[in-house]
Amino acid sequence: MRKVLGLAKRIIKSTVVKLQQIYFQIFGSKVECNICHYKANKLNSDSWHAYCTCPNCSSGVRQRLLMASFTLLDRFNFHSIIDKKNVLHFAPEKALGALIQQRAKEYRTADFFAEGYSYKNIDYNIDISDMKTIQTETFDCVIACDVLEHVPDHIGGIREVYRILKNEGYCIFTVPQKDHLQVTFEDLSITDKKERERIFGQYDHLRIYGDDFTTILQNAGFEVTAVDEHFFDKHVAAHYVLFPPVLSQHPLATNYRKIFFGRKI
Ligand SMILES: [Zn+2]
Repeated sequence: MRKVLGLAKRIIKSTVVKLQQIYFQIFGSKVECNICHYKANKLNSDSWHAYCTCPNCSSGVRQRLLMASFTLLDRFNFHSIIDKKNVLHFAPEKALGALIQQRAKEYRTADFFAEGYSYKNIDYNIDISDMKTIQTETFDCVIACDVLEHVPDHIGGIREVYRILKNEGYCIFTVPQKDHLQVTFEDLSITDKKERERIFGQYDHLRIYGDDFTTILQNAGFEVTAVDEHFFDKHVAAHYVLFPPVLSQHPLATNYRKIFFGRKI
């Protein structure tokens, strides 16, 4: 019975999305998801930010910022970073991962299997801070969006990514950054889930990052560029919702999302 209800729900949702798309194609739309090309006058809201999540593919600001970089920025576009390259994608976002897989020479996925999450089609069950099963200088690009905040030894994780990248290869990181926080705050002694949620924003986050994340990557040897909405024309940023249109009042809100591209030098 539950399976039938689930199937009915999915059919109704996809029918509603299709009808909406016909409507917005005829009458015009204000915003668009640059990953699945869902069009609407506004996206869905979550508990922290208004109108930021794609109802069709669930993309958030960080995934659309990365897609905008892949399609619109010369230095970080698909051609420069992904095409015919060996790519390792941690905690892969489904819709974005499918697009990367189509263009990469070799596309591998990785995650560190944890309680409470489900995993499908993952090549490596691996801790990013201990990847000894992967040889040095194996990949041209390693993508890990919102992964490091879950990792006790995140500096070790960044060093390991540096090690498995080929020279001139790129890491692509995003991390939750509290707005206007300068220095990353972590306290591994906080283990209570409610306390972690209050202090770091989620029950399994171990730290909240500050503006010093660029320096953290530079200290590991990367040449770093932090891409935010200012890299794009303001009409493009508005159309693809690359910046939350309403500043959240949540004390840990991360309105200012950035994609950190690090080149191994
Ligand atoms: Zn979408």
